[in-house]
Amino acid sequence: MNRQQCELLASRWQGGVQWDVDMADYSTLRAGGRAAALITVESFEELRSILRLLQQEAISCLVIGRGSNILVSDKGYPGVVIRLRGSLQGIRQESESPAAGKVVVTAGAGCSMAALLSWCTRQGLSGLEFMTGIPGSVGGAVRMNAGAWGHAIGEQLQEIDCVDVSGCSRLIAKSGLTLSYRHLSLKEGEIGQMVVVRAAFILAEDAEEEIAKRCREYMERRRGKQPAGVASAGSFFKNPAGDSAGRLIEAAGLKGTGCGQAMVSPVHANFIVNTGGATAADIIDLMHLVQQEVFARFAVRLEPEVRIF
Ligand code: FAD
Repeated sequence: MNRQQCELLASRWQGGVQWDVDMADYSTLRAGGRAAALITVESFEELRSILRLLQQEAISCLVIGRGSNILVSDKGYPGVVIRLRGSLQGIRQESESPAAGKVVVTAGAGCSMAALLSWCTRQGLSGLEFMTGIPGSVGGAVRMNAGAWGHAIGEQLQEIDCVDVSGCSRLIAKSGLTLSYRHLSLKEGEIGQMVVVRAAFILAEDAEEEIAKRCREYMERRRGKQPAGVASAGSFFKNPAGDSAGRLIEAAGLKGTGCGQAMVSPVHANFIVNTGGATAADIIDLMHLVQQEVFARFAVRLEPEVRIF
């Protein structure tokens, strides 16, 4: 962004702009460069109007959730980072039921997965328990088609509400989406810059205690298998078809390997952890090293799951 664009943004955006923001504070990897600006939008209308303004001024933008799958390079992000809060975090049960015992729940993209899960548990609504322990927002989870234990969030989707870069909204039914492993696209092509604003899930009625028990079991399955109390973005690489990235990295003897302050976790080889003060370059160098070693040993090219900007 040039100076004129900054002045225009400051004068036209009454909601408040944070300038020169350290993106390490907005990423669970606790690493990354600086963003020229960060704006927190509180409503659908605010989102539409900021997107229109940014498009008119040809300012690039990046919508983030809770930053549990992103890394901004050390050279920084030159545009505006947008976070969704306020009314874009709401949860509600729709009055129409799609079938006996089924319920539609709508959640704002800015809502945290943890908040949605505990709401569903309290309401006795089942279907998303396998998401227990996955940090992040509803928008990030939908965008990544996040999941675990053989399930992905897309399975429960009914439709999503999106806004495109020119501020126009679109309601897209599941039949208009292509949901694949850690990826969401539209039947007509990539989702690109479109912002997910809201997602509707089809859930089933069940007893609160049963749902809570399943959530606890899923959490228990994670304990001990994943490094705890360290900065990471979860699994760094996507699993290649029919194999596990963690198995390949471990078999290549890379557990504990480091670049600067980034390290392949000794607990789970597919976790790159920040041992304290890692730069984005440390993490990206380690990513390349892992990719090279795994390719040299097994002729498998590992693709990062973490989105690097
Ligand atoms: P971000 O990291 O903020 O963003 C991820 C991507 O989504 C970016 O490209 C961003 O631009 C885009 N995005 C975010 N919000 C929107 C929106 N509203 N509209 C359009 N695009 C958007 N993932 C799994 O799938 N399974 C796991 O088991 C798992 N375990 C994890 C464990 C740990 C400890 C950690 C740290 C991460 C784990 N993850 C896992 C990764 C991560 O939590 C998920 O991918 C999560 O869904 C990302 O959500 P987020 O809100 O943090 O998204």
